[in-house]
Amino acid sequence: MQRAPFDPAAALAASKHTFGEHGGVNMSIEASTTFTVMKADTMPEIFSGHRTADRDGCFLYARHVNPTVHTLGRELAALEDTAAGYCCASGMAAIAATILQLCAQGDQVVASNAVYGGTHALLQTYLPKRTGITTRFVDIGDLAAVEAAIGPRTRVLYTETLSNPTLVVSDIEALADIAHRHGVALVVDNTFAPVLVTPSRLGADVVVHSLTKFVNGASDLVAGAVLGSAEFIGRLMDLHDGSLMLLGPTMDPRAAFEVSMRLPHLPLRMAEHSRRAAFLCDRLASRGVAVRYPGLASHPQRALMTRQSNAGYGCGGLFTLDLGDRDRAYRFMEILQNEHRFGFMAVSLGYAETLMSCSASSTSSELDDAALRAAGISPGLVRISIGYTGELATRAEQLEDALRRSGL
Ligand code: PLP
Repeated sequence: MQRAPFDPAAALAASKHTFGEHGGVNMSIEASTTFTVMKADTMPEIFSGHRTADRDGCFLYARHVNPTVHTLGRELAALEDTAAGYCCASGMAAIAATILQLCAQGDQVVASNAVYGGTHALLQTYLPKRTGITTRFVDIGDLAAVEAAIGPRTRVLYTETLSNPTLVVSDIEALADIAHRHGVALVVDNTFAPVLVTPSRLGADVVVHSLTKFVNGASDLVAGAVLGSAEFIGRLMDLHDGSLMLLGPTMDPRAAFEVSMRLPHLPLRMAEHSRRAAFLCDRLASRGVAVRYPGLASHPQRALMTRQSNAGYGCGGLFTLDLGDRDRAYRFMEILQNEHRFGFMAVSLGYAETLMSCSASSTSSELDDAALRAAGISPGLVRISIGYTGELATRAEQLEDALRRSGL
């Protein structure tokens, strides 16, 4: 079926209409934890939900809804084409709150076996121990296995648009179809692919983000967001039963302001991350290096990536190289950082500078050996988040030099 094209840059631009208090071109930071009312009987109306922030511009307390955080949530909802959104203190807070809102004690999640290490640990260890919410991990590309894993207590099908670190592309339309046939919510972590892919347009019910990465883009703050229906976001903020409201991983309005200021150039940054990653990967591939990038003909889901992507933003800024073993991976990164100033040996991603890490011994080290094997994460796998500093041809030469000297 033909989908209508979506331009996230236009959607973002249209959402940017909040003036500052004195007519400033930037919104004001509402640095208040509590909000007054003119008449005392307005307060119980806010507590009972008869007056709301959206409908009536009524605010209560900043762990519930702060106007600046609320505005960022609306901007991100526009980016992800959902009816509503709210932000929180980290990507992990967004993921945990979403799962806890959708699942009760004893319910089940079916999740991709290729997810960020922290998410894996939450699903594999933390939630079963504390809440009895269990997870069956599956190969997300094996749709028959995904469907077979769904049971009567399954409430959530969980995946990442592009998996961390293996860059497996989820077939979001097919997964939404399976989930909805079984009355299950499809939750998609779109941290690796903001702007590039819009999961809600492909059928995802809830989209979560670590804003810490590409969306903020400056590696200077930790933040997260949940985007979905107004009904679901309302449930997260419910005074009696909302997991964001009651567990309290609240975003500071100053952080919301910072992230909002960086949204207008997110589409430009994503396009440039993609252009640079594609150039480097094409060049390495043409020299026979085994590089994994969703924009390369050799990527098993390249056609799927193209089909699911919004036009004009490419395939993202992340690629992986398998150096064979850990020592070679470490040597490779040390040459790049310490000799060439190519980037940093650091976790995280989506920064102006290139960030490189050896996944099995860092951001996926929560996985045991069997889980690492199932996810396809070998000990020498290096994940590279390409930045946009430096002359591109020079960057390519630096990369090739480090590969040669690391024995690849
Ligand atoms: N989701 C993905 C795909 C990630 O890579 C990360 C962190 O690396 C997270 C979620 C967690 O985000 P945060 O560090 O903002 O809690």
